[in-house]
Amino acid sequence: MESDSNNTELAPLIIISGPSGAGKSTIVKRLLESCELPLELSISATTRQPRPGETDGIHYRFLTDEQFRAHRDNGDFLEYVEVFGRGTWYGTFENDVTTSRKNGKWIILEIDVEGAMKVAKNNPEAITIFIHPGSLEELERRLRDRGTETEEKILRRLEVAKRELDFAPSYKHIVINENLDNAVEQVCQVLKSNGGST
Ligand code: ADP
Ligand code: 5GP
Repeated sequence: MESDSNNTELAPLIIISGPSGAGKSTIVKRLLESCELPLELSISATTRQPRPGETDGIHYRFLTDEQFRAHRDNGDFLEYVEVFGRGTWYGTFENDVTTSRKNGKWIILEIDVEGAMKVAKNNPEAITIFIHPGSLEELERRLRDRGTETEEKILRRLEVAKRELDFAPSYKHIVINENLDNAVEQVCQVLKSNGGST
């Protein structure tokens, strides 16, 4: 564990990124179930609409534009980004992250590359992991099979994905999610071998 300026023990900070459809949520869910570490997922705020099966407060805190702006203006976010352009905002609550780390929880931020770079700059000890889908073709297949976005939104996500893949070398670890079990195991091993000495 490292220390902040007040010499308070802080648990590791984990940043997981990768293009939409790469498998981040699936991997994180499996990690929380099976990786034997005190992991916790940071619940981000977003202004996008919930997908079927998504619950407010569990998958995201779904906010209106006004609510999001109020949190932003109040300085509540560690980082916030308009991920896909066109008015969809996402943000990480700073207080949740600090509280969890002080309580010994290894907090996972599942955030886009832009937000990740901001947080990593201020927290160079963070364990940063990029989930790579293998190829853009595979990414497209997964986004279509997931069936949660309109055609226009899928195309927008693929366009953004091309740029996001260029950020992979900026992460300390790259995990290719071809076989899901292997990817989950690899991420768990990365955490176990880096958590004590980040
Ligand atoms: P993300 O959180 O990165 O947007 P998801 O976790 O929602 O991605 O995964 C996108 C889709 O791909 C989901 O339907 C998921 O079940 C599927 N998926 C995840 N990992 C794999 C894999 N290794 N092989 C095939 N499909 C996968
Ligand atoms: P989705 O809409 O598919 O759940 O997420 C879209 C993208 O937003 C993903 O790349 C995801 O990692 C990113 N994202 C989710 N929450 C946050 C956040 O709090 N901050 C940032 N910067 N990106 C986020």
